Amino acid sequence: MPPSKPSFRNHFALTAALGLLLLLSACGKENHGPQVSGETMGTSYTMQWHGQASTLKIKTVRLAAEQRLAEINQLMSTYIPDSQLSLFNAQDHSGWFAADAELIYVLDRAYSVSQASKGAFDITVGPLVNLWGFGAKLEGFAFPSATEVRIARLTLGWDRIQTRQQPLSIFKPAENVYVDLSAIAKGYGVDQLAMLLDNFGVKNYMVEIGGEIKAKGIAEHGAAWRIGIETPMHAGRSVEAVIGLNNLGVATSGDYRNYFEHEGQSYSHTIDPRTGYPVQHNLASVTVLHESTTVADAWATALLVLGPQQAYAYAEENNLAVLLITREDKGYVKTISSRMRPFILN
Ligand code: ADP
Ligand code: MG
Repeated sequence: MPPSKPSFRNHFALTAALGLLLLLSACGKENHGPQVSGETMGTSYTMQWHGQASTLKIKTVRLAAEQRLAEINQLMSTYIPDSQLSLFNAQDHSGWFAADAELIYVLDRAYSVSQASKGAFDITVGPLVNLWGFGAKLEGFAFPSATEVRIARLTLGWDRIQTRQQPLSIFKPAENVYVDLSAIAKGYGVDQLAMLLDNFGVKNYMVEIGGEIKAKGIAEHGAAWRIGIETPMHAGRSVEAVIGLNNLGVATSGDYRNYFEHEGQSYSHTIDPRTGYPVQHNLASVTVLHESTTVADAWATALLVLGPQQAYAYAEENNLAVLLITREDKGYVKTISSRMRPFILN
């Protein structure tokens, strides 16, 4: 089979620049509060605040944020060869690996979502992510054969990764197990940036990494922060729904930015661990609200794997605030869980 064009790189660049959620400024006016932004986790981050804490210097926040993000990346990035996670992945034998409490915290959140989603969310999906050309190892992508997919699937096993507190460590069940936290680390970063502003005494803020957002207090126009959920179109940008956010995190996963096309079919960067193939159904975008952006981020990916029916059923049974957008003949269709309804403003 000829190698397919790695057009996903272009889409990735777009995701990186924009994320899937948009902060809407009131009445089209720009937000005039202090703002810090920069690059992290292969995408951008923004923090903005206003009101109290007027003595707080932008420079102070920028330095603290850059330091916090650097620490998180040094623990969790698979793009940094000597990050703690990369060293864990490189460990050439099974056994316990000494790890930081923060990495263990994120692994434990991931484990819970994997358990509740019956493996739809799986941080050991890394070899498949790489095989499908979406991982840290990008060189030489070719459309995988069924055999390659089957072999990569043999390394799966979120339930085989254990953590312990005394002494702080992670258990690596086999040499070839490879952990990828791309679907949860941005959410964790957002929670950490929010905590940083909490610690500075800021009452009204919005922080965002690659479109995963946490907002607290009120926006400058005096009402809840307004977050736009994109229409899940491959090209162009428009707002499909508007969410009012206070003291909550929000994350969106979609199939429409980071994907490639092969023989007329789209393949997105969300992999169904149960098949080893990129998800193939008409659920184009999943938005989850949760007090923990870490958990919202993981669930957005998990529900995208589960597909529209199972995702909706899970959200209703577990009182999760979820907005699903499906691609149907008549256009995009929104399905809103009961818990989400009060947050939808349009
Ligand atoms: P984005 O990075 O666009 O915000 P996600 O939060 O959904 O999107 O994360 C997607 C990334 O998560 C993929 O690029 C891949 O590294 C990883 N991934 C893909 N499928 C799964 C899965 N089933 N479970 C956990 N992580 C996954
Ligand atoms: Mg995610």
